[in-house]
Amino acid sequence: MEEKKLGWAVVGLGKFATEQLIPAFSDCKHSKLVALVSGSPEKAERLAAEYGLEAQNIYNYQNYDTLKDNPAVDVIYIVLPNSLHAEYTVRGAQAGKHIMCEKPMATSVEDCQQMIAACQKAGKKLMIGYRAQYETYNLKAIELIRNGKIGKLKLITSDHGRPLKPDQPEDKWRADKKLAGGGSLMDIGIYSLQATRYLTGEEPIEISAMKSSTPGDPRFKEVEENINFTLRFPSGVLANCSSSYGFFEVKRFQAFGSEGTLTLDPATDYDEHNLTLKTDAGTEEIKLNGNNHFAAEIDHFSVCILENKTPKTPGEEGLQDIKLMMAIYEAAEKGQPVKVG
Ligand code: NAD
Repeated sequence: MEEKKLGWAVVGLGKFATEQLIPAFSDCKHSKLVALVSGSPEKAERLAAEYGLEAQNIYNYQNYDTLKDNPAVDVIYIVLPNSLHAEYTVRGAQAGKHIMCEKPMATSVEDCQQMIAACQKAGKKLMIGYRAQYETYNLKAIELIRNGKIGKLKLITSDHGRPLKPDQPEDKWRADKKLAGGGSLMDIGIYSLQATRYLTGEEPIEISAMKSSTPGDPRFKEVEENINFTLRFPSGVLANCSSSYGFFEVKRFQAFGSEGTLTLDPATDYDEHNLTLKTDAGTEEIKLNGNNHFAAEIDHFSVCILENKTPKTPGEEGLQDIKLMMAIYEAAEKGQPVKVG
């Protein structure tokens, strides 16, 4: 395929956008950064100078809709706090642009449905930034399980945790339910949930859950600290997952099969992945050439647009996680299992 590069605008120049996504464009073959949208002109100007962008391609939240008049921009990447994803996706689609939106897709099922509808109406594509599904080690784990390397899959455990630090700008809004939509589940427990879905290739049919927050901890006035959930899949596979804003950096999963165990720990780190396969033959550490999975997901969307294909993680994938996370919250509130699907 001819190496045409689509033009991308990044909306929200926070920690993730500036430290991971924007630098990743230098590793892209089909995507180039051409515009920035920010509430801070100083930050946008500094980054525009650093990445060689034209000053006329700096936008703010007020003139965002005028992106429609900029033919250099094909795709808008929304990297804002969670509850703002819906508004900026809808406005971006109305401006005639394809939309990549960060996880979690939104903070309600209704918002996800509006986002999908707006993109459909505009004839534009929508993708959710589930980077793990474009990352080499996670893809290898899926392949090994599908190829029966651990026999018949029985159980997945997945744990994601990190301490919430609301004194840091990127965590301030995460403690605010209006902006975050929920606590650790919406932010990092979603990785545990995603892993169970892409490792099994199935959708859960029943969920039970329990949540807790340390009494008196001011960080958790509005959002949950811990939530543990169990999923039942149609094949009989069970998954035990945890999500925490209390415990120290954990981003891992394990898949237990009738003939082996696969461990990826860390599984969803930005750049460190340790994959181990334990069978009767012994314990094997699997070393791969890791990829820049930020660049991989960005390029995947550009290629889908260029070839008019549906991305691997479209809006419907994001909607499914939001539905399941709402069911996890419901199960935790009720103290009873909830049927889904
Ligand atoms: P951040 O706080 O560092 O960045 C958010 C940006 O939005 C900031 O530049 C902030 O100024 C701007 N903003 C605009 N309106 C705002 C408002 N009303 N309140 C607060 N901020 C506002 O956060 P982040 O960690 O970069 O997260 C941004 C998004 O990216 C979130 O949806 C998060 O879930 C997602 N994210 C994804 C990954 C991943 O690995 N895929 C990692 C981190 C964050």
